[in-house]
Amino acid sequence: MGKSNAKVYVKSSDGIKFSDVAGEDEAKENLAEIVDYLHSPDKYKEIGASMPKGILLVGSPGTGKTMLAKAVAGEANVPFFSMSGSEFVEMFVGMGASKVRDLFRQAKEKAPCIVFIDEIDAIGQKRNSGKMGGNDEREQTLNQLLTEMDGFEGNTGVIILAATNRPESLDPALTRPGRFDRRVPVELPDLKGRETILKVHTKKIKVSEDADFQQIARMASGASGAEHANVVNEAALRAVRDGRKYATQADLEESIEVVIAGYQKKNAILTDKEKWTVAYHEIGHALVAAKQTHSAPVQKITIIPRTSGALGYTMQVEDGNHYLMTKEEIENKIATYTGGRAAEEVIFGTISTGASNDIEQATKLARAMITRYGMSEDFDMVALETVDNQYLGGDVAMACSAETQARVARQVVELVKKQHEKATEILMENRGKLEELAKFLYEKETITGEEFMEILEKQGMGCYIENG
Ligand code: ADP
Ligand code: ZN
Repeated sequence: MGKSNAKVYVKSSDGIKFSDVAGEDEAKENLAEIVDYLHSPDKYKEIGASMPKGILLVGSPGTGKTMLAKAVAGEANVPFFSMSGSEFVEMFVGMGASKVRDLFRQAKEKAPCIVFIDEIDAIGQKRNSGKMGGNDEREQTLNQLLTEMDGFEGNTGVIILAATNRPESLDPALTRPGRFDRRVPVELPDLKGRETILKVHTKKIKVSEDADFQQIARMASGASGAEHANVVNEAALRAVRDGRKYATQADLEESIEVVIAGYQKKNAILTDKEKWTVAYHEIGHALVAAKQTHSAPVQKITIIPRTSGALGYTMQVEDGNHYLMTKEEIENKIATYTGGRAAEEVIFGTISTGASNDIEQATKLARAMITRYGMSEDFDMVALETVDNQYLGGDVAMACSAETQARVARQVVELVKKQHEKATEILMENRGKLEELAKFLYEKETITGEEFMEILEKQGMGCYIENG
């Protein structure tokens, strides 16, 4: 008793490599630094750099977080210790904490190594603010984990990777600097990613040569890597049931329906119509941004639901140190926020609820222009609003009469409206590009900034008239 009976210590020789994890290039890039550090820690020590002790892998179940953690160990050729958060709390009282202590003792002996904690939310949830009903066992376990993390230097070679689907539910003590202070999003795969995942998994079964993986991937928008593994296995089982020697395209297609039926209940999968709406909406933002600034607006747009919960758009990458914004820049930004809705109007003639966050952001900016930045002619440089304690949430209080407040409100509306009209105009003038880009995004589910600019800058197909 008391000993950690973790099925730890996976030998790295049978370890998974990054190449086994299909897609997830960004996550891999992010983790490559850890691998490099484990390979040559001296390089880092010499200069005085320390690695983060803890890294959170954030993403839906089945996106490959465990695989990635194993791959880091595999690539670096170091031992891999793993434990699941829920295991900790299922223990008898007092066992969770001692298990943690034990795990870290073993890990330090075997350093450099990777410690992987799956489902960290099971122990790391925000502590109950209520007086009663707290889970003592969990709290002790969490405290022990924090103590262990604080107890070793950043350069001991123990790197802790932890997986969660709900980073916002974690106790802030866990995400403080020196603990889990780095996040690596592990996203659901896009079309290309899904095709690669299918290829990886169909290598393990016998499958007919004419199987069209892209077609299958197309049918599985929103499904995770694990679900794809499932589909492939289902297809193989189906083939056996029918007494065939290999799985066919039809087997794959039919299993996808079975598996999808399962996950459609769990995750809200976008309908085709929604997918088009989101594609146009996101391109609307990006196109308005690009046309105003004449530069690549985004790193990447995707219509796969992101871990952040947002449906797609990655707002313009702020260019470095951008402390000051001109009036024109703020106006452009407001126009960009309205661009999503504007695209829906231009294309469908109807509007959806997809713009609620945009509305909030645009309103905030417009309001600040008038009440805080002195950017309206009417009020000149008069502060109409004071921010109480910026550091504690920043409650905003109006510092003017009710009549003035009404005038401010009217001006906010006017301002947003004007930018909304500008956005609509931009989109109508560039309707061809809007359609072309949205179609690309709909089909590929992801578009990079480069692809975006390439399509945008490509000359039209001949039929434009030069008018003097
Ligand atoms: P998570 O830890 O995010 O819940 P896992 O890493 O446990 O997900 O993935 C479960 C299974 O799903 C893996 O064993 C693998 O078969 C499959 N899988 C998930 N993501 C991928 C991927 N990107 N490439 C290949 N297989 C994947
Ligand atoms: Zn939007």
